[in-house]
Amino acid sequence: MPSEKNLKKSLSNSLIWNFDNSYLKLPQTLFVRQTPTPVADPKLVIFNDALAKGLGLNTEGVSADRWAETLGGNEIPSGAEPIAQAYCGHQFGGFAMLGDGRALLLGEHVTPDGSRWDIQLKGSGQTPFSRRGDGRAALGPMLREYIISEAMFALGIPTTRSLAVVVTGELVYRETAQKGAVLTRIAASHIRVGTFEYLRARKDLSTLKALADYTLQRHFSERVGEPAPYSALLEAVVERQAALIARWMAVGFVHGVMNTDNVSIAGETIDYGPCAFMDTYDPDTVFSSIDRDGRYAFGHQPAIGGWNLARLAEALLPLLDEQESRAIEIAQEVLGKYPQRFEHHWLSEMSAKLGIQANQEGDRVLVQEWLDLLATHKMDFTNAFRMLSSDLPQDQAAVSTGAFADWHLRWTARLGQQAGAVDAAREMMRQKNPVFIPRNHRVEEALRAADEDGNYKPIEELLRVLASPFQDDPVWVAYKNPPGPEFRDYQTFCGT
Ligand code: AMP
Ligand code: MG
Repeated sequence: MPSEKNLKKSLSNSLIWNFDNSYLKLPQTLFVRQTPTPVADPKLVIFNDALAKGLGLNTEGVSADRWAETLGGNEIPSGAEPIAQAYCGHQFGGFAMLGDGRALLLGEHVTPDGSRWDIQLKGSGQTPFSRRGDGRAALGPMLREYIISEAMFALGIPTTRSLAVVVTGELVYRETAQKGAVLTRIAASHIRVGTFEYLRARKDLSTLKALADYTLQRHFSERVGEPAPYSALLEAVVERQAALIARWMAVGFVHGVMNTDNVSIAGETIDYGPCAFMDTYDPDTVFSSIDRDGRYAFGHQPAIGGWNLARLAEALLPLLDEQESRAIEIAQEVLGKYPQRFEHHWLSEMSAKLGIQANQEGDRVLVQEWLDLLATHKMDFTNAFRMLSSDLPQDQAAVSTGAFADWHLRWTARLGQQAGAVDAAREMMRQKNPVFIPRNHRVEEALRAADEDGNYKPIEELLRVLASPFQDDPVWVAYKNPPGPEFRDYQTFCGT
């Protein structure tokens, strides 16, 4: 019998998850059971306390080493039933069989308030879907996903989140040898457009139907029981993607790899590979080194969103109607709503950034002319909106002279039609236009300190600043500035 003291100690040092793994009840074609491959020397380097608390995880008395064992994959927590999920995807337009090649879903954790979250380890070792990959991840890209996903969360944009990064004590070999790491990703689910494409490719109609029913129940329960449930599912996904991409466009986020396997059905931003925030406004902005044709350029994201939704519609065709021609008609009708749904979300996002409360005729033109001014004068996207939101006299002077004067007059006149006019509008604009975004040079600098010197102070400070993106603070002025000319041709690389 353990003494009471020892029992208390072991209790307080145990992680209590509340796993309930509903995905495992789906047909087995959708996953493969697979345990993480243990790592040599797991060490916790970043941990998201606020997120852990939000998930209802007990953090008190749990040592960093204990977290590292679990979140590095060396210990499988009670209730977890790890799987690699199967999916396909259109990558840069080409169809491929993929699946979790270096990630495992530990299970679904249900919080005290009843919400359900996928707990995924990324970089946890090989799976049957690894193809020629090593199943591992490098520290830099995992820290990068942590920083940017948490920044997106603070900006109020739907996203997967990051609970922790554990270094493995092993090297991974890319162009050079790098430190290995495992990221713990928290997501509403990991069901992708590519998950449906996988079942369609296998012509597995019964599993396709089971997955569609499961997805409706899990993410769109308000639409369960509608007479046409599968067109309702498609319509609900169209709506979430339209809203999501509009949010990206409003903060200058370039996802960089909008392949259909990286499109979450739940409408979260997922898979932070070569993503980055735009500095100077330019719709042609591309950061990813592999995106040579600009398929996923900033200004092309809305159209690609539509293309990806069309792949989902194709996968769902057999569920939309038994008769193919009728199914295609239904799909086209639902997809046809995407452009106007996107436009609706985009215009209300962009108008809000300009302080406009309820849209009226002429607002679209006012927004577009402002964007054209930013493009012509090569202005920093984030800082230009924040400048408009500020009531500092020198900032007002900057937009009241030269090329901006005419636009500025019309903008102030437009705000004059609302209660509170410009002053009230600016108040609202400061809640909408961030001061702080993860500037590429700051992110790179913080990653370098962590990776090369094991110094996590810069990342911690960066995360602190990005956690309150709308709250200006002169102490952090250096985080506002766009990079110098040496960063103009900044390139990102896929996080493999
Ligand atoms: P991503 O570019 O992260 O969306 O990954 C695309 C596909 O490649 C997914 O099926 C991943 O699981 C797989 N993959 C990426 N990196 C690796 C790796 N190092 N080992 C095995 N599979 C990988
Ligand atoms: Mg992916």
